[in-house]
Amino acid sequence: SDNLYDLFRSRFPDDRSRPFLETEAGRVYSYADLEAVSGRYARLLSAIGVRKGDRVAVQVEKSPEAIFLYLACLRAGAVYLPLNTAYTRHELEYFVSDAEPSAIVCRPGQEGVFSAGSAHVLSLGQDGEGSLPDRSASFDPDFPTVPTSSSDLAAILYTSGTTGRSKGAMLSHDNLASNALTLHSYWGWQPDDVLLHALPIFHAHGLFVATNCVLLNGSSMLFMPKFDVEQVFRLLPRATVFMGVPTFYARLLADERLNRDTTRQMRLFISGSAPLLAETHREFESRTGHAILERYGMTETVMLTSNPLDGDRIPGTVGYPLPGVEVRVTDPETGRVLGQGEIGGIEVKGPNVFSGYWRMPEKTAAEFRPDGFFITGDVGKIDERGYVHIVGRAKDLVICGGYNVYPKEVETVVDAIDGVGESAVVGVPHPDFGEAVVAVVLRRPAGPEVTEAGVIAVCKEQLANYKVPKRVFFMDELPRNAMGKVQKNLLRDQHTGLFA
Ligand code: ATP
Ligand code: MG
Repeated sequence: SDNLYDLFRSRFPDDRSRPFLETEAGRVYSYADLEAVSGRYARLLSAIGVRKGDRVAVQVEKSPEAIFLYLACLRAGAVYLPLNTAYTRHELEYFVSDAEPSAIVCRPGQEGVFSAGSAHVLSLGQDGEGSLPDRSASFDPDFPTVPTSSSDLAAILYTSGTTGRSKGAMLSHDNLASNALTLHSYWGWQPDDVLLHALPIFHAHGLFVATNCVLLNGSSMLFMPKFDVEQVFRLLPRATVFMGVPTFYARLLADERLNRDTTRQMRLFISGSAPLLAETHREFESRTGHAILERYGMTETVMLTSNPLDGDRIPGTVGYPLPGVEVRVTDPETGRVLGQGEIGGIEVKGPNVFSGYWRMPEKTAAEFRPDGFFITGDVGKIDERGYVHIVGRAKDLVICGGYNVYPKEVETVVDAIDGVGESAVVGVPHPDFGEAVVAVVLRRPAGPEVTEAGVIAVCKEQLANYKVPKRVFFMDELPRNAMGKVQKNLLRDQHTGLFA
């Protein structure tokens, strides 16, 4: 069948005693463990009535058992629906009533939060304890995979909620399989590669990029419960591939142990989920000799573009469209396809692109063009070498006096000022201009003094007047969500009355 689990299984090592995952504490799970535990979980899910197409909502801490549960759902033909552990009771009510899962797996002690509905509630703790492992222990580890067709859903993944309420993206077995196969070959996975896994697994990056590549490679990963600089430096000598969000790289750079020696055996550092500052890319390369490979994707499409494995990994770009993925830039108003170098809305098409938002037919229809291209909501351009550049999100575009201001252009100028660590540019309502540009700036620790007047002066030299921030605010930290994405809506809200 086209079940994603069967694809993974076809690539598992013949010797199933080979390691699949090693925890921070040194506990090793083999591919035989993976098959047996996920088989028992799949049997338990079937025994409590989970059928093909049923949703299984999962809000648990990162653990090896949580990965086995994901695989159990695939095997049972169920739709895996992971939820961020940070979600509050109120938010969970929305997700659960929206998704109508037939089973829910939560952290031990949290069962009461989910008991109101009709779903079966099971628990799974960080150390592999709970009613899911307990009740599945007596089941036969052998489980025949439920056949699925390529368009059957494998997962519903909620988007990060950076620009508004999270939407459930419906991803099929084929969406995930085609993308994982592409990434596996594009990034040149080697039989003995070891991934250092520090990402959350309720999101596409940690689950469908990192974990799926390891499963397709039939090799192993060092599995950290969360990103931790000390643990990264302890485990790095045994790893060859690392995947991170830009904040991980900024934190590694802030540590003096990051150098050529401590990263000597690494084959590949990959970044995504949010823009990697060109400066971070350059500093990382000068410190370690490794050019971070930046790629771009989203929950709805999994991965779309990537800098090359061999060839130039250009700072500030997200690389080429992946094989099989079509990327075009269009005029957001008319949908007309724009030429090389022109900035517009990024639209994509390919076997990786989702079939729609769960129970949101109008929203789904509005985000697809008649010829099947999905409107990503990101704004960018394709340069003369074919590299894709992201300049921001359509929702973050500032329109000042009728002129478009792409926040990234202003941020790039501000970031280059000596003493600036990072910046975020947003538009806030303005009585004359409609919107005005406002910059929020983080000073570099121990860097030279940066002032509002100084930032404005530099921008005036380099940018047209309508792009120059009318006000500059200093903060110690930018508001970020779990994936390290800057929440510009919060910054806008904070300054919305500024020019009223
Ligand atoms: P929501 O859609 O709920 O507002 P979100 O778009 O942040 O949240 P995700 O699907 O997790 O949710 O993130 C996808 C987005 O992340 C992309 O649309 C893009 O804006 C951004 N992104 C991902 N990788 C990169 C990258 N390498 N450079 C710039 N932006 C990136
Ligand atoms: Mg989005």
